[in-house]
Amino acid sequence: MKRLVVALLLLVLTAAPASARQLDVGRYASPNPGSVNVLWISAPQGLIVIDSGRTISEAHKALAAIQATGRPVAAILITHAHPDHVGGLGVLHEAFPTAPMYASAGTAEEIRTDSKGFYALTRQIDGADYPAVMTVPDHVIQPNKPLFVGGLRLETAQFGPGETEDETAFYDPSTRELFPGDIVSNHMTPALLEGHTCGWLTDLDRLHDRFPHAARLYPGHGAPGSPRLIAKQTRYINDFRAFVAPAAAPSSPGGVTVTPEELATIKGEVEAKYSDYPNVASLPTLMDVNITAVAHEIATEGPCRVGG
Ligand SMILES: [Zn+2]
Repeated sequence: MKRLVVALLLLVLTAAPASARQLDVGRYASPNPGSVNVLWISAPQGLIVIDSGRTISEAHKALAAIQATGRPVAAILITHAHPDHVGGLGVLHEAFPTAPMYASAGTAEEIRTDSKGFYALTRQIDGADYPAVMTVPDHVIQPNKPLFVGGLRLETAQFGPGETEDETAFYDPSTRELFPGDIVSNHMTPALLEGHTCGWLTDLDRLHDRFPHAARLYPGHGAPGSPRLIAKQTRYINDFRAFVAPAAAPSSPGGVTVTPEELATIKGEVEAKYSDYPNVASLPTLMDVNITAVAHEIATEGPCRVGG
């Protein structure tokens, strides 16, 4: 009998850590406008931080929240090269110099070169609170290969061009938690300014197909939610394209160029359907830039044929 009790007790004790492995996802969201998430998951050998925030001052706040856990950082993963996800990398790297910094080859290259001038633009907006020199990830994620970090096996998937040229999603099969970067945001005005909304819709379909068992999703912007956020993001982009399409038609006033009147009409339609959707970017003219970029995309590429 005593032996049975001991055996049962041992069973309970050994089973406990497995259920405690329910990932405890930490999140620091900077304030609006342009609220962006720094996320961290608990791995056996420490925390795995996903993205680094926009500005130096916000990265310090994220750092304080990470340090409050009392756990070391085992690795830092970067989903994509947009300024709001990499601006804080220098702060995190300085605090955790031995933690490897991972990104895809394309993302690391963009951080190195700023070929789109996004960091230069962000420095104009945020001034000295945006790093003068970018910190470049020192470890490469092999496309669509699992990543072994901090004693954890994460699945990865490469996307783009869509929300940006090159984006990596991370998935923990043991907890069914999905980290899609900015392919999904929650209840926020996304940055459509790269003009690849059709590619983005394809990526959303692929994201859903690639991780069909995901139970919880942690977007780059906004609160975590169910995988239904993927359909919600798809709906937003489809609606946005439908609002813009008439103004991009050659027969419209101004031809394929969006006139100020058309711009005002589209803005009104978007705001009526998606009111209280703060911008993902600190760029005050994000909506105007989104409309111009999507009009250009539709005028040059025509309709988007994506299943689903
Ligand atoms: Zn972002």
